[in-house]
Amino acid sequence: MKQQRVALVTGGVGGIGTGICKRLAADNIFVVANFVVPGSEVAFESAMNNAGFGSDQFATIAGDVSQYDAAEEMVAQSVTKFGTIDVLVNCAGITRDASFRKMTLEHWRAVMATNLDSAFNVTKQVIEGMVAQEWGRIINISSVNGVKGAFGQTNYAAAKAGILGFTKSLALEVAKKGITVNAVSPGFIDTPMTKAMPDSARQAVVATIPSERMGVPDDIANAVAYLASEGASYVTGTNLSVNGGVHLYQ
Ligand code: NAD
Repeated sequence: MKQQRVALVTGGVGGIGTGICKRLAADNIFVVANFVVPGSEVAFESAMNNAGFGSDQFATIAGDVSQYDAAEEMVAQSVTKFGTIDVLVNCAGITRDASFRKMTLEHWRAVMATNLDSAFNVTKQVIEGMVAQEWGRIINISSVNGVKGAFGQTNYAAAKAGILGFTKSLALEVAKKGITVNAVSPGFIDTPMTKAMPDSARQAVVATIPSERMGVPDDIANAVAYLASEGASYVTGTNLSVNGGVHLYQ
């Protein structure tokens, strides 16, 4: 029998990332959670411990996935310590919202590097291992805003739409190698990213959601767990919308 599978989750210590890590660990996958802010792994480790997961079920690893060399180093360290990465979840992301007329080059570049370049930077490091073992799962976290656009998010929507093109093209290239490549597009999920919004803006968004609630990280984690499973081997190049029905308005 194949030994325990290993998943690398970029931005794994964030709101959605932590939900994904818990869910994959519950599915008996060893989880390596990537982080970039020094010290942010401490709360994550407590959350995993409190959920009943021990050091034989997860680890954390530092690395800025927006930088190619740092991503290369981070994945090399992970492979040395924990073995080939079977499941990659590209989840790290940031927002730098501003209307296009006010958006700076810095806003643009930060979002493209973190949300789109990162998928190239990290996937490039894991793909050969997956090809060699003829099994792999790559799950890219996009956004409903990458499909429908969003006011103040020309940078974010462009990066997230780019993720969808990346997903479909790579899926075509590696399907015959036993590797699936899919995207999950969250809607409005209750995490530090959306807690940063003013209350009035949050309420206005919730009012547009057919399910009449924000999503929670588990909603996304459940979708990721399915795509990471053995049973999803015939699902590739898809974009799974997890947004309480918001995509129905597109
Ligand atoms: P979050 O801010 O809680 O988590 C994001 C994590 O990514 C953080 O831990 C952050 O430190 C990490 N990160 C940022 N830059 C990084 C870098 N260069 N290298 C490594 N890690 C880095 O946000 P979240 O809501 O959990 O978002 C997770 C993903 O889901 C993101 O890709 C986001 O765009 C996407 N998403 C979120 C929502 C939502 O409503 N929360 C909706 C759609 C898509």
